[in-house]
Amino acid sequence: MSTLLLDGRAVRAALLPALADRVKALIRPPTLAIVQVGKREDSTAFIKAKIAFGEKIGVNVKHIHLPDTITQQELIAKIQECNADDSIHGIIVQLPLPIALDQDAITEAVDPCKDTDCLTSYSVKRWMEGREDALLPATTRGVKELLAHYKIDLFGKNVVVVGRSMLVGKPLAAFAMNENATVTVCHSKTADLAAETKKADVLIVAAGRPGFIGADQVKEGAIVIDVGINTIKGEKLEDEVSGRKLVGDVDFDAVQPIAGAITPVPGGVGPMTVVALFENLIDICMR
Ligand code: NAP
Repeated sequence: MSTLLLDGRAVRAALLPALADRVKALIRPPTLAIVQVGKREDSTAFIKAKIAFGEKIGVNVKHIHLPDTITQQELIAKIQECNADDSIHGIIVQLPLPIALDQDAITEAVDPCKDTDCLTSYSVKRWMEGREDALLPATTRGVKELLAHYKIDLFGKNVVVVGRSMLVGKPLAAFAMNENATVTVCHSKTADLAAETKKADVLIVAAGRPGFIGADQVKEGAIVIDVGINTIKGEKLEDEVSGRKLVGDVDFDAVQPIAGAITPVPGGVGPMTVVALFENLIDICMR
C-alpha cells in the first residue's frame, strides 16, 4: 500500500502567500506579543520559529522575555499591560510556565479579544461548542487545515485521540466531535491503549512520549496524525530546535508502511501550528 505523506511544510508554503496578502490588506501591520518566562531552550526555539514566520508575512512579533524569578502578580500585571496596549493585537503566553506559577490564572489574565492561543474560558467555551465564529487553538487549527488540504473528512469516522491536555488533546477531540466523528480519548489511565488505537480510522497522538505508538497499535490504512514533538539531546541538528533531534510520538518507520496517510516529525503538524497561530492573529485583527 502506498502511504500518503501529510507534508506540513509543503502546506505551510502553499498557504503563506494568501496569509501575507491578508496581512497586507489590514490597515496596519499586526503585532503579536509572546510572553516567555525563563530560559527553556525548546520554548526559545519555538519562539524563534514564530518570529521568523511573522517576518515572512509582515507581522511584528514582540518577544517579552521575563526572568523565572517573576512573581504571579508581576506576570499578571505584565499581561494586563499588553491587554491595555492598543499596538498589541494578540498575546500568547509561552507554555509551559515554571511550576511555581499558576498557569490557569495566568492564561486567564489574557484579554479574550487578544487570546491568540484560545485558552481563556471565554475562548474554550466557544471552541468546545464548535461555534462557527470560534477560533481554535493553534495546533488544532493546524491539524484541521492539514486535513482539509488533503481532503480528509472526519464525518462519521472513528477518531481516537491519545492525550487529553487543555492545550492539545481536548481541543483536538472537541474539533473531531464537532466535525461529526465518533471520538475516543485515551490517556495514561486507559486500560488497553492498543485495543482503542486499533479502532481508529484517524489516530491523533499527542502524548509527549517519543515513538511510543508502534505498528501493532495502528489499523491498516489508518490516517495517523503525530502531534508529538520530543527533543532528544546530543543528536544531530534538525528543524527548529537547534542542536537536538526532533521525534514524534509515533514510531514513523514502523507505522508508515501500514498507515494510509501519516505526518512526519519534524515537518508535519509543527509547521501547521505556526501557520494557524498567525491565522488566529489575523482573524482577531479582522474582528
Ligand atoms: P501533556 O500536557 O504532557 O499531555 C500528555 C497527554 O498524554 C496526557 O493527557 C497524558 O495522560 C497522555 N499520556 C501520557 N503518557 C501516556 C501513555 N503512556 N498512554 C496514554 N496516554 C498518555 O502534553 P501536551 O502539551 O498535550 O503535548 C503533547 C505532545 O504534543 C508533546 O510532545 C508536545 O511537545 C507536542 N506538541 C506539539 C505541538 C505541535 O505544534 N506539533 C504543539 C503543542 C504540543 P494523563 O492526562 O492521564 O496524564
